[in-house]
Amino acid sequence: MKILIVEDERQLSDVLTVLLKQNLHVTDAVYNGIDAEDYAMTGVYDAIILDVMLPGKNGIEVLRSLRQQGNNTPVLLLTAKADIEDRILGLDTGADDYLTKPFSTGELLARLRSITRRGNEYLGDALQAGNTVLDKNTHQLGTGKETVTLSVKEYQIMEMLLVNSRQIIPKERFVEKIWGFDSEAEYNNIEVYISFVRKKLLAIGSDLQIKAVRNVGYSLEVGV
Ligand code: CA
Repeated sequence: MKILIVEDERQLSDVLTVLLKQNLHVTDAVYNGIDAEDYAMTGVYDAIILDVMLPGKNGIEVLRSLRQQGNNTPVLLLTAKADIEDRILGLDTGADDYLTKPFSTGELLARLRSITRRGNEYLGDALQAGNTVLDKNTHQLGTGKETVTLSVKEYQIMEMLLVNSRQIIPKERFVEKIWGFDSEAEYNNIEVYISFVRKKLLAIGSDLQIKAVRNVGYSLEVGV
């Protein structure tokens, strides 16, 4: 998943970034409420971790503005332990859940899983299309007969394709989601990784095919 981290305490932000990356998420970090809203409104995030006490605009104001503009990205609020009112206000404003500082990393990951599961059933433990299953815990792609393990980028590509199967995903979308806005990734990087994934699909006897749509992007087709 692609997650926006909004936290002005650099140390905590860095810890969150490392933790989420270790769990194969793609992250962007911003440190004030103004940037938070700009980034969130791009709509590319699967979840937002949003601190309440922020410079520029506080987390509640950011959240209210997002929801008023129709942005429904799941939001996990980070609040100080004493601020019960913040929590109530946050939930009333449209936060999906909250976590009080200090929190354990296990709890943060569990709550992220929980808020992204709602309304998005595909975010269970496995994604399936045709004869092929992608296991979200082991990052293995299998057909029952054969199984391969995907690298981080291959996994992220396959996840995007399965979640949006039969839709054309523009190349820019892969860059935004997997490499991030600031990345130097060239489009031919994606082509390289797509070819790796295609080889693995072939190797396990998958009936899925990644079709290239010239100058646009890729789509996953079943039963070919
Ligand atoms: Ca803060």
